Amino acid sequence: SKALGKNSFSFFTNELNEELKEKLRIKSMIELALKNNGFELHYQPQIDISSGKIIGCEALIRMIDPIEGMVPPNKFIPIAEQNNLIVPLGQWILKEATSQLKKWENTPLSELKLSINVSALELNHKDFLSSVEKSIQDIDHKKLSIELTESVLMNNFKNDLPKIHKLKEMGLTLSLDDFGTGYSSLSYLKNIPFDFLKIDKSFIDDILEDPKDKMFVQIIIDIAQTMNLTVVAEGVELKAQLTMLEQLGCHIYQGYYCSKPLKCEEFEKLFLSHKNY
Ligand code: C2E
Ligand code: CA
Ligand code: CA
Ligand code: CA
Repeated sequence: SKALGKNSFSFFTNELNEELKEKLRIKSMIELALKNNGFELHYQPQIDISSGKIIGCEALIRMIDPIEGMVPPNKFIPIAEQNNLIVPLGQWILKEATSQLKKWENTPLSELKLSINVSALELNHKDFLSSVEKSIQDIDHKKLSIELTESVLMNNFKNDLPKIHKLKEMGLTLSLDDFGTGYSSLSYLKNIPFDFLKIDKSFIDDILEDPKDKMFVQIIIDIAQTMNLTVVAEGVELKAQLTMLEQLGCHIYQGYYCSKPLKCEEFEKLFLSHKNY
């Protein structure tokens, strides 16, 4: 009936309105947080499987809202991307990460590598290389690792490829993130001088139950070894997963089995407690 049609239409527009309102709300939260120092990097340890030692960490951003508390990146990174806020945010991340590396110099944490995630629009931005260059002036370049996903690379490959080669020439470390979830994985491996290859958590989740996932992980590790890449497994939660990854020849892991991403001081404490994971 007409009435029903009208009702369902207004239901639909209400939904859209709510979604739009929510986006605008988060957008202003981001703007506020950029002004008020409302972001934190949390650090998740990366463990060398054969020695059990923490050899690096991944910086993962959190927004700390005065009212809502900690907001996870999946909730605001896409909105930062849609509103041109990812560029200033990316610059903050770069500055924060490199100053952290600087602070760790001449401490027991001085050997650690630190990875940051870079989004497509950041990489595309004309000032990206110069901001990186500026931020790394004071640090050992190879300690900073840039994580790129296949979807980032898919975005504007022709424009990005020379930039990525430049990052490599500058001595930074390059990681291919979320490997296996995109499409043209192998061509990226061929064309980009990656150092690390990160196997997506979705393959690790079922590695114990699903022989196909296990086989897939084995193939990735074999390819990586042939190409001299270091393999990082993401999202390791169980001892049994770690044991299997070790058997398959995986080099490094990240995951709740060792630790969630931690505030800086907590991460430092964990590192200094010198346990083997
Ligand atoms: P990602 O780069 O793939 O990061 C890994 C995500 O998996 C992180 O979620 C991490 O907390 C989570 N994780 C790690 N180990 C485990 C585990 O054992 N179990 C489970 N269930 N989860 C685990 P997080 O911090 O919420 O970040 C989500 C995504 O947001 C990241 O995925 C990345 O795409 C994006 N992101 C985070 N920080 C940044 C950033 O600084 N810049 C940009 N551009 N994106 C970021
Ligand atoms: Ca990542
Ligand atoms: Ca990942
Ligand atoms: Ca991911």
